[in-house]
Amino acid sequence: MLGLRAIKDSSEHTGSYYAASRQPTTDYSFLSEAATCDVVVVGGGFSGVNTAVELTERGYEVILIEANRIGWGASGRNGGQIIGGIGHTPERFKKLIGEQGIKTIYQMGIEARDVIKERIETYGIDCDLKWGYCDVALKPRHMKEFAIWRDWERTIGNPHPYTLLDASELKSFVNSDRYLGGLHNTANGHIHPLNLCVGEAAAAVRCGARVFEQTRAIEIIPGDNPVVKTEHGSITAKQIVLAGNAYMGKLIPKLSLRVLPSASSVIATEPLSEALATKLLPGDVAVCDPRTALDYFRLSADRRMLFGGLSNYTGMEPKNLVPVMRKKMRNVFAELADIKIEYAWSGWIGIGINRMPQLGKLAPNIRYIQAYSGHGVAPTHMMAKITAESIAGETNRFDVMAAIPHMAFPGGRVLGRPLLAAGMAYYKFLDLF
Ligand SMILES: Cc1cc2nc3c(=O)[nH]c(=O)nc-3n(C[C@H](O)[C@H](O)[C@H](O)COP(=O)(O)OP(=O)(O)OC[C@H]3O[C@@H](n4cnc5c(N)ncnc54)[C@H](O)[C@@H]3O)c2cc1C
Repeated sequence: MLGLRAIKDSSEHTGSYYAASRQPTTDYSFLSEAATCDVVVVGGGFSGVNTAVELTERGYEVILIEANRIGWGASGRNGGQIIGGIGHTPERFKKLIGEQGIKTIYQMGIEARDVIKERIETYGIDCDLKWGYCDVALKPRHMKEFAIWRDWERTIGNPHPYTLLDASELKSFVNSDRYLGGLHNTANGHIHPLNLCVGEAAAAVRCGARVFEQTRAIEIIPGDNPVVKTEHGSITAKQIVLAGNAYMGKLIPKLSLRVLPSASSVIATEPLSEALATKLLPGDVAVCDPRTALDYFRLSADRRMLFGGLSNYTGMEPKNLVPVMRKKMRNVFAELADIKIEYAWSGWIGIGINRMPQLGKLAPNIRYIQAYSGHGVAPTHMMAKITAESIAGETNRFDVMAAIPHMAFPGGRVLGRPLLAAGMAYYKFLDLF
């Protein structure tokens, strides 16, 4: 398609700032035998890795397989923004999950960030965790929505205060003339996502999990003891968890029809001087605007501006990615108009039609987790936790999520893309007002 190109990256994931600053590099061998275990987890992103951590902490014998390297997918490429909440407006499903189900989802949305916090503390993971976050307003109606949202967080018992800021107050966090104000909180924050994911995989190994990289599941054979076949081996287990999300291709058509890989992109500047970094983002917060095709940005630990955006439902990125992203960044910070951009990369967000994470069972012993619709850093950790709970017999929270129905994209991925693009174009049009 004109002006677009496929996202390219080696199976080692070398293209991003995160890959260049990954500590340490993972080098788990590939599976070349017929193995057995209690639970095999497919996919080495946050969903899969944290399912492995949660299960090994509970005493299960776990094998985790990743087709490329740990964190190769969205988990090692994202904006690094830890954002509370699980999915969007669970009230829509009240008839199916009841008032209690809705409350459960809101409570999980608060708990998710603590799962990350505890994991980092428990295993001493070095991933530049910072708390502090601003949603920023581009329209007067955004400020009204933020006020409702602040009150709502109080209503659901979020212990972290949300503070409404006018344009001048916002400048002590986000020093740009672009915004009319914002909503600040310390419930949310930011991390180096690849270092978190790699550190969590190491935690799973410390707890006894076996991890294999460059090991793609090519067939799932259901049964009392289901089997995952890989190119050079197989794993027979009591349970399987599928966590390949937008990158799982056609392994399970029922799942791939419900998640559409959509591209989002990030650039990283050269390191800014301390004075410039402090001038632009004095509070070192992560920042996000409320549009459908949103901007999201923050500083890395070495003071690069990491600026993300775009949402391309073709799954491809612009051929002129750097100029496109530079323009977006310049609209927020004119000071960065000529700054050197050292890295630019893209990844796949798994979009679902109703924008709620998809959890469920393909068989009593085969579970899946996918489709966070661009909001997954914290929710993956929570969904991994409740998946492990469910395997351990505490099924309540998993069952709430599994009760939410998920439609396949009409026309599959081929026709689903233009349909989703048309739907999103409508929401982008509404963003103009
Ligand atoms: C550019 C970008 C920016 C984003 N920014 C944010 C943000 O700031 N905040 C936020 O909350 N969310 C953000 N997200 C979304 C978030 O990153 C994802 O929701 C989350 O990482 C999903 O994690 P996951 O483990 O489910 O999937 P992934 O991280 O995609 O992991 C799936 C893994 O499974 C592997 N796999 C697939 N098939 C197989 C197979 N057959 N066998 C073995 N392995 C397989 C893949 O190689 C991949 O590594 C962003 C996403 C992108 C792409």
